[in-house]
Amino acid sequence: MMFRVPAVSTSARPAVELHPAWRLPTTEDTSRHQRLDALTNGDTTTMDHTRLPPMTACHSGANTPRVACEVSVGVAVHRIRVRWTRAAHLTGVPNRVLTMHIEFFGAAQEVTGSCHILRISSGSKQRTVLLDCGMFQGRRSESREKNKRLPVPIEEIDAVILSHAHIDHAGRLPYLVARGYKGTIWATAATRDLCAIMLADSAHIQEKDAEYLARHRDEIIEPLYRMEDATRTQECMVGMPYDKWFEVTDGVRARFTEAGHILGSASVVVEVREGEQLKRLIFSGDIGRAGLPIIRDPAPPEDGADVIICESTYGNRDHESVEGARDQLARVVRDTAARGGRILIPAFAVGRTQELVYDLHELRRDGNIPEIPIYIDSPLATNATAVFAMHPEAYDQSEELVRRSPNLFDFPMVSFTRDVNESKRLNSMHGPMIIIAASGMAESGRILHHLHHGASDPRNTILIVGFQAEHTLGRRIVEQRPSLRIFGDEVPLAAEVEVLNGYSAHADRTGLLSWLRDVRRHGERDGRGTPTVYLVHGEHAAQEAFATQLRRDGFRTEIPAPGTVVPI
Ligand SMILES: [Zn+2]
Ligand SMILES: [Zn+2]
Repeated sequence: MMFRVPAVSTSARPAVELHPAWRLPTTEDTSRHQRLDALTNGDTTTMDHTRLPPMTACHSGANTPRVACEVSVGVAVHRIRVRWTRAAHLTGVPNRVLTMHIEFFGAAQEVTGSCHILRISSGSKQRTVLLDCGMFQGRRSESREKNKRLPVPIEEIDAVILSHAHIDHAGRLPYLVARGYKGTIWATAATRDLCAIMLADSAHIQEKDAEYLARHRDEIIEPLYRMEDATRTQECMVGMPYDKWFEVTDGVRARFTEAGHILGSASVVVEVREGEQLKRLIFSGDIGRAGLPIIRDPAPPEDGADVIICESTYGNRDHESVEGARDQLARVVRDTAARGGRILIPAFAVGRTQELVYDLHELRRDGNIPEIPIYIDSPLATNATAVFAMHPEAYDQSEELVRRSPNLFDFPMVSFTRDVNESKRLNSMHGPMIIIAASGMAESGRILHHLHHGASDPRNTILIVGFQAEHTLGRRIVEQRPSLRIFGDEVPLAAEVEVLNGYSAHADRTGLLSWLRDVRRHGERDGRGTPTVYLVHGEHAAQEAFATQLRRDGFRTEIPAPGTVVPI
């Protein structure tokens, strides 16, 4: 691809738009720094394999004007701020004109690390709002590097809006706080309470990982953040009800609507006004599905929008029905119990675990599964279940068990193990049982011990109930690799592997499309026309397929790369 670098001269107004977004080049930029310096001093230069974002960011600071370009070399995108060697006055935008830009930082052309930067400018007023600040997951060393990169300098962030408590959306909030963030983090009340336990758990994992590396590999790494950062993050969080506008920061308001994905999950409507000017953006968060146990169905925002940032995890496939998943769960439990094996279920401690317990409760009540013990072997899942119990206001009252059962998660045969010894004791026990343990992609947590112990036994079943990202152990199980590397050992994979997509907490292609059509219909009703859809939170194949489908349906659709900046 060939793109033009804008001409820069001292006399003419530069062919770039004024924007407050800039930051000093980092050391990784230095080698390319000079190259761009030279390029921006020429009249017009063409660079191979170089991509400029739709808007090139500049800063008009007194004596140090800079121009920023984004260069992608192979798959890596490097954001480079280049010193503008000749003084120039940058007056791109007249006073009081409202501009809003989105920079796609994380979950752009991948699933994890959800984070989008909104920059709002009117007159001399500049505001920066982050939508989510999630953890990158996947290959360890690569994600460690990515997790250490701040989306923007802390002092520029005015507020953060969080869609839900999953770690790929909330996991780096304590890192912001550790680096000095003191502003507000807006979320729903249930998300705030779930974050209290999930971020503490994440801090614990960071600290343990650092300890492990120091002990076993002589590698000294500083944990991304510590427990006290997670605790301080909680102090920044403000829980808001659904469907009520709140002021995020000066001149910017937002509203949460039910996303139907996990307890407390929300889509976010962000609105900015300046006089008569109005810009509205909808961030889908992770969209769930109608009919999931316990939680309500997604309610697409009724506001209409100029732009939608939409997840696309399952943009290329349709799921089995939720009811079908419950039947399949019953079959897997019956078959494995008949073989005398264990059912090992790696599950997100929050959401999936409670849904499984709820469904097992129902299956057992109706006599559809044998009476075998069910162990929830995760202190986080145990705590999360307590948070679920605190937020009945977010339950789906149309479900029979919700209405009838005073305690959804407590019934004979189910036990919550808290300490490690209890967990270890499970390995020496005999007979069929169900073990549900985190993490959901089998990357960490107690499920690793159970897989280490049980993956080689053909009587057992490893039951996969959620999305497994590339380069995770869960993905290797789904791919049925002949052996799995766990705690440094090669463990042969002899257990049965069953995948239940019906439990996915993500909307499938049909669900996403109907959600977007609903939002478009509302927008057309109030004369906003068809919004542009930016697809995030998906792998390449899913995003491409879904983009094609959306274009056929009349949407303007883009799949932004990390670092892409677009105006609204
Ligand atoms: Zn999620
Ligand atoms: Zn997600």
